[in-house]
Amino acid sequence: SKVTNHISNSLAHADISSVLHPYTDARAHERQGPVVIDHGKGIYVYDDKGNEYIEGLAGLWSVAIGFNEPRLVKTAAEQMAKLPYYHTFSHKSHEPSIRLAEKLVEMTPPSLNHVFFTSSGSEANDTMVKMVWYMNNALGRPNKKKFLARNKAYHGITVASGSLTGLPNNHRDFDLPAIPVRHLTCPHFYRFAEEGETEVEFAARLVAEAEAAILEEGPETIAAFIGEPLMAAGGVMAPPEGYWQGIEALCRKYDILLVADEVICGFGRLGTTFGCEYFGFTPDIMITSKQLTSSYMPLAAIVFSDDVYNAIADNTAKIGTFGHGFTASGHPVATAVGLENLKIIEERELVANAAKVGRFFQARLRELADHPLVGEVRGIGLIAAVEMVADKQTKRPFAQPGKIGATAFSATQEHGLIVRAIGDSIALCPPLIIDEVQVDELVNRLKKALDDVA
Ligand code: PLP
Repeated sequence: SKVTNHISNSLAHADISSVLHPYTDARAHERQGPVVIDHGKGIYVYDDKGNEYIEGLAGLWSVAIGFNEPRLVKTAAEQMAKLPYYHTFSHKSHEPSIRLAEKLVEMTPPSLNHVFFTSSGSEANDTMVKMVWYMNNALGRPNKKKFLARNKAYHGITVASGSLTGLPNNHRDFDLPAIPVRHLTCPHFYRFAEEGETEVEFAARLVAEAEAAILEEGPETIAAFIGEPLMAAGGVMAPPEGYWQGIEALCRKYDILLVADEVICGFGRLGTTFGCEYFGFTPDIMITSKQLTSSYMPLAAIVFSDDVYNAIADNTAKIGTFGHGFTASGHPVATAVGLENLKIIEERELVANAAKVGRFFQARLRELADHPLVGEVRGIGLIAAVEMVADKQTKRPFAQPGKIGATAFSATQEHGLIVRAIGDSIALCPPLIIDEVQVDELVNRLKKALDDVA
């Protein structure tokens, strides 16, 4: 056996010998073994050794309502008992998917009126790409197929969504990008603004860069621009003021669809229901997942405009079908859980909580800006990142990127806090139910970890 002696627990053995873990160095995992999470309560999870952790990333940026909500358990059990599965192919439907689609149309901007369900954000983005291509073929413009995205974007890992993602580890050795996509500059002021540039100037430069790219490729070849309102998994980076207005105007000018990937921002993360609401723009297509069900069930939804719908619908009439869909599209248990989860978010006013507690969270985290290791503290509402640098004055990163991030990640875990290390940034995204006392505890644990590392 390759398993080292200190891993005595049989679950850990079985994990090492049988599971290939996502986003994990498999050989390192064989040596160190898994942290086996056993159960959860509120913002906390507990491992099989009884250690308690604040889930500072809400699982994967997704468990809005906490880790033991009995109403979702009841909803899932009741739906399982009544109709555990049915599909939505060939004119079939069922009440949970209809009710959730209706709810999403009601919650999203007035111009978004139609829904397609998948099980993951990646499938949703692959579906979106295919919908856009299908639409442009239907409209007699087969050359309008390219996408604009950004460096450091995260849109998933399937063949099309992984191509839209702008992170090297998602491309390297996977032969991606595999669809026509052009990645533009990441709109992160701290890292990518030029010397002496203001935020407004930075935004204007990035919009000009996007326009130059559109003109160089030819507007008749560009189908869509996709962006996370606030870029999350690439390092929690809000765009500069005016950026989204500039991008939205370009999309209108050149007849390019604007796709908001709200998989993390959606359902309250920034203190508004959607990220596009926070930044004041209106997409043609919105991608949602994660907090849609608080990840109690796998589910994603693409919500889109009448124009997109009508172009696709007309083509289905010509061909006789929309040749796309998943066995689990609109899964009854997942959609029932999604609807109940959205009701809970509304009843408990968790979007307002994210705004209010979010202000406190951001203020407490900004106190860490004085820490010798910290270059930038950034974020909005209940999402943030703390970036560690070798030199605070010059913003110079560490020579070996990711090393101190990994050390800090381990230190936070030892202090009972689960975060995500993105390079040398520590990302935080706690459940939307967090209160101010718990924020204090989270920041205290983080500070202890930073002190250990410094
Ligand atoms: N889009 C965004 C903005 C995401 O953050 C993610 C996942 O983190 C995805 C898409 C992909 O979702 P999934 O992991 O469910 O495929």
